[in-house]
Amino acid sequence: MIVISGPSGVGKDTIIERLLKMDPDLRYSISFTTRPKRDYEVNDVHYSFVGKPKFEELIGRGELLESALYNGYYYGTSRTRVEKLQRQGIDVILKIEVRGAEQVRAKRPDGVFIFIAPPSMEELLHRREERGSDTPAVIEERQRLARWEMSHAQYYDYVVTNEDAQVAAEDVMEIIRRERARRRGAQPPE
Ligand code: 5GP
Repeated sequence: MIVISGPSGVGKDTIIERLLKMDPDLRYSISFTTRPKRDYEVNDVHYSFVGKPKFEELIGRGELLESALYNGYYYGTSRTRVEKLQRQGIDVILKIEVRGAEQVRAKRPDGVFIFIAPPSMEELLHRREERGSDTPAVIEERQRLARWEMSHAQYYDYVVTNEDAQVAAEDVMEIIRRERARRRGAQPPE
């Protein structure tokens, strides 16, 4: 299991898209969320969009490997989807925020935890300004949240700085290859 975290706007989606193209044995686990769908998003592709009662039902029946409230909405990882992929020998990528990652770490310490950091907080702000038409208050709130998220980078196995998306994706791919090799080496001979 490969857990990827990082502040909003840092470029996690682009990096993950590139990883999926680089390696057919990697798959992205689609999360559940109560957040409203954005125009460009497709249900059951970007997220499975659900209402709060459905989300609570998923928690109630133990279907979420982890879950967190982020920016006023709930997000959670499907245990069934992750386990199905893993049974097929696929390495699953989770793109989750820091509190969810802590929960996964407690349950699945064998995961690889990677934090994507911006070159600087100013650059992160700049990237987000380019992306959207947020109000100054929203921008300030996001930046505050980003600073809080950055303070958790120290708890990850790896921190990759995203100066350039292709270089960062290659760095993450290299980490995955090394971890795979290390794990194969650690297995007892048959
Ligand atoms: P967004 O709403 O911008 O797509 O995502 C907001 C944040 O929620 C991002 O940091 C993203 O990584 C995180 N996130 C997405 N899916 C999950 C999930 O299943 N669990 C947790 N804990 N966080 C998630």
